[in-house]
Amino acid sequence: MGHEGRLFIGGEWVAPSTDARIDVVSPHTEAVIGRAAAAGPTDVDRAVTAARAAIDAGPWPRLDPAERIAAVRRLAALYGERRREMAELITAEMGSPISFSKLAQAMLPWTMLGAFADFAEGYAWEETRPGYYGQDVILRKEPAGVVAAIVPWNMPQFLIVGKLAPALLAGCAVVLKPAPETPLDANLLAELIEQAGLPPGVVSVLPGGADVGEALVAHPGVDRVSFTGSTAAGRQVAAACGAGLKRVSLELGGKSAAVVLDDAEPAAVAAGAKLAGLMNSGQACVAQTRILVPESRYGEMVDALAAMVDEVPVGDPSDRATEIGPLVARRQQERVRGYIELGQYEGARLVVGGTGLPAGVDRGWYVRPTLFADVDNRMRIAQEEIFGPVLTVVPYAGEDEAVRLADESDYGLSGSVWTADVDRGMEVARRVRTGTFGVNQPYSMDPAAPFGGVKASGVGRELGREGMDEYLEVKAISVAPATDLSEGRDR
Ligand code: NAD
Repeated sequence: MGHEGRLFIGGEWVAPSTDARIDVVSPHTEAVIGRAAAAGPTDVDRAVTAARAAIDAGPWPRLDPAERIAAVRRLAALYGERRREMAELITAEMGSPISFSKLAQAMLPWTMLGAFADFAEGYAWEETRPGYYGQDVILRKEPAGVVAAIVPWNMPQFLIVGKLAPALLAGCAVVLKPAPETPLDANLLAELIEQAGLPPGVVSVLPGGADVGEALVAHPGVDRVSFTGSTAAGRQVAAACGAGLKRVSLELGGKSAAVVLDDAEPAAVAAGAKLAGLMNSGQACVAQTRILVPESRYGEMVDALAAMVDEVPVGDPSDRATEIGPLVARRQQERVRGYIELGQYEGARLVVGGTGLPAGVDRGWYVRPTLFADVDNRMRIAQEEIFGPVLTVVPYAGEDEAVRLADESDYGLSGSVWTADVDRGMEVARRVRTGTFGVNQPYSMDPAAPFGGVKASGVGRELGREGMDEYLEVKAISVAPATDLSEGRDR
C-alpha cells in the first residue's frame, strides 16, 4: 500500500511525528505480516486540531443531512467492493476464522453502513413537542462535535463502524484509535474514507497503544468519547471523562449466561453454545461461556456439549472449514491456559480440552477448546472473562435459581435461554439483568437492535436509533407567541 509508514490525519496520509512502527504478527504463523506507523502524542494533537476545524469552521456539521447520508452511502459502496479483502486482512491480523471474518468482520460492518444511512433518512432532526404549559417546544438534534472512538482488536471493523457510521451521519468528526494488534484494517478503511471524499479532518486514524488512547481522551478538543474494551480500561476512560466533563459511552467486558431450560433439545443447546460461546474463538465480549443446565437433564446436556467442543474444527484461520483459530497474541494464549489450570485447581471437572496445543498444531497461539462441568458459579472461571474457547457448565435446580445464577455476575452484557416453549423463554428473558438477550438464539446482531451492557459491562447503547442519539445533543428552542410580545409592549 502506498501509504505504508504514514498516518491518515486531516484527510491526508502524513509522516508520523515519531519513527515508531507497529509490527503486525500473524497469530497463526508468528511471522510479521505487515507494518503500520504508530501515532504519538503530537499526532493526537494534529488529528484533534483537524477534527476541531472540521466541526468549528467546516461545512460537515452544517450540511443538509441528505449530503452526509450520500457520503456514507458512497463509503458503503466502496466498502462492499473491498469487503473480501477486509475479511482476509482481519483474519491475517488477529486470527479470526475466515468464515467468521467474512460474515461478522466484513459483511456486517458493510451492512451497518447502509443500515445507519437508512435510519438517518427517517431521523427526526427537528421535532415539535407540546409544552406542559401550552407553548410548544422545538427539539433540535445537533452534532455532539469531535468524537474520540477507541476500539479493541477482536471485532475491529464491526466496532469501528458501529461508532463511525452514526457519528458521521450525526455530523460529528471522528478521531479513531484502533488497537495496536489491528492497524491494517483501520488503514484500509481510511483509504476508503479518502476515496469516498469526506471533507478533511472529518475522520483521522491513529493506530497505537493505550498511551495514544489516554492522550486522545484527555485532549481538551475532544467533546465525546466512545470506548470499547476491557472493564479495567473503561474505568480509567470514564474517570478521565469525568474530570473533563465529557460525554462517554462504554462497551466493556462480559461473562454472559446461557440458561438451558428442562424442555430444551441437547443438540440445539450444543449448536447454540458453539455460536454463542465459541464465536471468534471465544474472543467475543458477548460470549455466553456460563451454561446453566438443569440438574434433571444434566448428564445428557454435558454429553452433547462435550461432543460439540471435542469435534469443533481447530486450525489455520484461512481455511474455510476452521471454526476455532489461534488467539490474538501469545499473552492471550498464556492467559487462557492459566484459566484452564485455575479451573482444575478450583475443583471444576475438565471434560474436554486442557492446556496442551490442539492436535496437529505445532506453532501459533492456539488453545484447545475446553469444557468444564460441575462448575460452581462463584469460581473464578465462572466469574472472570477468559476471552478464549473455554466453556463452563453450572448446574441449577429450578428456574428461580437459574435466573439468580445468571445475575450472579459483575457483568450484564448478553445472555440467552434455550427452551421448547417460547413463552417460558420470554419469562426468563424479562427477568435476567442484562443489555441484550436471545430466546433460542445467542442475541440479535440486527443493526436496528440497540446493543450495550449494564453493570460492569458498560454505559450507553450502540446501533439502532439509540446508537444515533449517542452522537447528538438535544437543543430545546422555545419561540414566544407574537401576540404575547405585542401585549407586553402595550402595557
Ligand atoms: P483493552 O481495554 O486493553 O483495549 C481496548 C482499546 O482501548 C485498545 O485500543 C487500547 O489501546 C485502548 N486503551 C487501553 N487502555 C486505555 C486507556 N486507559 N485509555 C484509553 N484507551 C485505552 O481491551 P482488550 O483486552 O484489547 O480487548 C478485549 C476487551 O474488550 C474484552 O474485555 C472485551 O469484552 C471487550 N469488548 C467489549 C465489547 C462490547 O461491545 N461491550 C466488544 C468487544 C470487546
